[in-house]
Amino acid sequence: MALNSLDEIRSKLDIVEVISQYVKLQKAGANYKALCPFHKEKTPSFIVSPTRQIWHCFGCGLGGDIFTFVMKMENLEFKDALKLLADKAGVKLIYESPEINSQKQKLLDINDKAKAFFQQQLAQNREVQNYLTHRGLTSETIKEFEIGFAPDDWRLLSNYLIKCGFKSQDIVASGLAISKDDKDIYDRFRSRIMFPINDISNNTVGFTGRIFKGSTSLKTIRDIEGVGKYVNTPQTLIFDKGKLLYGLSKTKNNLHSANQTLIVEGQMDFLMGWQNGIKNIVATSGTGLTSYHLTILKRYNNTLILGFDMDEAGEKAAERSIDLALAKEFNIKVLQLLSGKDLADYLLEHKDSSKTQELLTNSLPIMDFYFKRAQSLGDINNLEGKKTIVSYFLPKIKKLVNALDKSFWLEKLSQYADIDRRALEDELKRIALEPVTFIDENEKEHKYSSELVVLQKTRYPLLAERIIAFLIKDLSLKPEIEKYQHYFPEESSEILNIVLKAQSPDDLSVDNLNKISLSDEVMAKINELALRADYELEMLEEFNISLKDEVAKQLKCLKQEAVKIQLKNLEKKIKDKESAKVDVPQLKELLNKFNQLSKELLD
Ligand SMILES: [Zn+2]
Repeated sequence: MALNSLDEIRSKLDIVEVISQYVKLQKAGANYKALCPFHKEKTPSFIVSPTRQIWHCFGCGLGGDIFTFVMKMENLEFKDALKLLADKAGVKLIYESPEINSQKQKLLDINDKAKAFFQQQLAQNREVQNYLTHRGLTSETIKEFEIGFAPDDWRLLSNYLIKCGFKSQDIVASGLAISKDDKDIYDRFRSRIMFPINDISNNTVGFTGRIFKGSTSLKTIRDIEGVGKYVNTPQTLIFDKGKLLYGLSKTKNNLHSANQTLIVEGQMDFLMGWQNGIKNIVATSGTGLTSYHLTILKRYNNTLILGFDMDEAGEKAAERSIDLALAKEFNIKVLQLLSGKDLADYLLEHKDSSKTQELLTNSLPIMDFYFKRAQSLGDINNLEGKKTIVSYFLPKIKKLVNALDKSFWLEKLSQYADIDRRALEDELKRIALEPVTFIDENEKEHKYSSELVVLQKTRYPLLAERIIAFLIKDLSLKPEIEKYQHYFPEESSEILNIVLKAQSPDDLSVDNLNKISLSDEVMAKINELALRADYELEMLEEFNISLKDEVAKQLKCLKQEAVKIQLKNLEKKIKDKESAKVDVPQLKELLNKFNQLSKELLD
């Protein structure tokens, strides 16, 4: 792609304007601040600088420019973030790089072709169309969500894709075909209704296929559905069902304003909900809610309404998802559907939109839901029944994070079961909960964002950075800081030197820094430190601490850290020498140095 489009986008878009579409920014001096959208916090440490066109969070360490922000916020790859911002800026991107032929692009192309093929097949098949109509889908919905049909044939799609010029191995890599041996491939999806699954930028990255056996009698079709046969695209370079939410690319813009998200399982529930006016809805396909899903959803709002079938088996299946969501401090509600009915069935029977909204309004907070379930499990009038109820409900109380919530529900249970509250509290202490682990998905998350993560620094380099940050703000600190220059860590010496050379604050403005050709990395660091100084100065003011005092204190700490590290190194050297039992004069010298440094630590 033309490289100048990057600068063109930067020049046309204002970082403050772009970021304020996602988070509420408040003016703070020359900058803007907000609660960080990437980690949980109560006081804002997320700062945006209009003059430097960067953002940085001093709580979690993330930061970058307009592109990295959109990548992180929308969960996009660089290329897609670029596309999104180019659209906003009205800049036309010209792709000339070999990237266009990259494997990912190939798989996207194959999916697009297959999608069109499936749609065409559906257009020719009356029987499937009738079936979808019976199920309640309108032709507008079918068109909007590009639903299609894979005929009952082993090679129709594969042959078509090969005719389109794709290689067998790429078709297999897309998950649409399976290879018997190197040459012979056959279609994965046969006699299935095909729902394209799109990523957040609306690229089709895979499919869910729902079984269809040619039969017009509704009764028989329901029988077949009893088998519940769904097939998803397997994990590919572009498809990971644990990361994708069906429909999110369409509904994401409504999730902020609706302030709650309805989560259902499967395409039919989603489509029937959407069609009946629920526009704050997403669906999982073939997985429970993963930690990754929850991280994505947390960006939009804090309340999840579970639209799963929550009969006993359903509740068990949803347990891990609910625990994960509670651990991420979501408010959770449960849609009140008759047991055994799914949302699609319900909406097929109740078509008026007031009923749909009623359904959302009447959803039960998760603890009320559990309490109701508990009451149905045993007879409150005998001891066995009471025990059953308590042993179901107490672990739910245990999982609550908030102490007030805990106390409220203990009281309620105590009254309902007519059991002394202290007995319940004793029992509560005995319950051991399995810790909620995010491990598997978190690892993926970490990998994904690793390029953006500024690793949490240890104290020593962080101290150095703070001091340099203050120096950028107030060059009169120079003489004092120069006295301590040799205590600064190696990695900050380059930046320290640049700042020490500045004669006036203007020398450190973006324009002037651009004139002395610095590496991108150094440039970004100076920008970040300038922002850090703004951020911290505000806090100093708030607590009435003078900058000079603070810097003096920090310099002392820096010296101590530096000396401690030297001591540690010396200690190791001394130990090595001791175990080697040679070189007595050298050992003596090391010990002398050690004593000297130890004294330095005290003054
Ligand atoms: Zn943060």
